[in-house]
Amino acid sequence: MNTESTLNPAQAMYRQTVPAGDYWLHIVKRGETLRIVDLEGNQAADTLFFSAENPGERYSATDTIREQGNIFLGTGTRILSDEGNAMLTITADTVGRHDTVGGACSTEANTVRYDLEKRTMHACRDSWMLAVAEHPEFGLTKRDITHNINFFMNVPVTSEGGLTFADGLSAPGKYVEMRAEMSVIVLISNCPQLNNPCNAYNPTPVELLIWDAPAMAEA
Ligand SMILES: [Zn+2]
Repeated sequence: MNTESTLNPAQAMYRQTVPAGDYWLHIVKRGETLRIVDLEGNQAADTLFFSAENPGERYSATDTIREQGNIFLGTGTRILSDEGNAMLTITADTVGRHDTVGGACSTEANTVRYDLEKRTMHACRDSWMLAVAEHPEFGLTKRDITHNINFFMNVPVTSEGGLTFADGLSAPGKYVEMRAEMSVIVLISNCPQLNNPCNAYNPTPVELLIWDAPAMAEA
């Protein structure tokens, strides 16, 4: 289901464009709203969430899928932690479907899926590893890198139970927006993938916007 946001980009307190192949590591505080914009369409934003208070508590694909009874993420999805707590809620989405089953690209996966010579190509997992290495202040290590959300990616499950990487449903300017239900560390790899036809072999930038928590109603 596609739903539009009522938030005005001109009122966002934070705005940043992230090129393909780069990462974004940032804390989004409880009550704030994060929007990810697919600037040129069919990009993949490979995303991990951790509790800012206790980074040992992290996003859980299995708990999120089980509780909502759906393998795709969209408007209304409560993004759950491995302790069953709501981390964020998707409040607006103009794409309609986001994957959390397909996993992130890695040099190993590129080798298996595409070719041995792809082994040295930059992959999402490398960007995450670089992020945690360059920012020890977040308290994350290699062992914290687990299953993720692929915002904007369309990965249908076939009737035989297999996974297919289908053409994206996203398009230039489409976005997904979520409200933080707890303060979260957000780690996004804007996918550098050059082998997967999903993005027409052309990885492109995404934009991140954050809005402050709505002011409490005046007494
Ligand atoms: Zn990737």
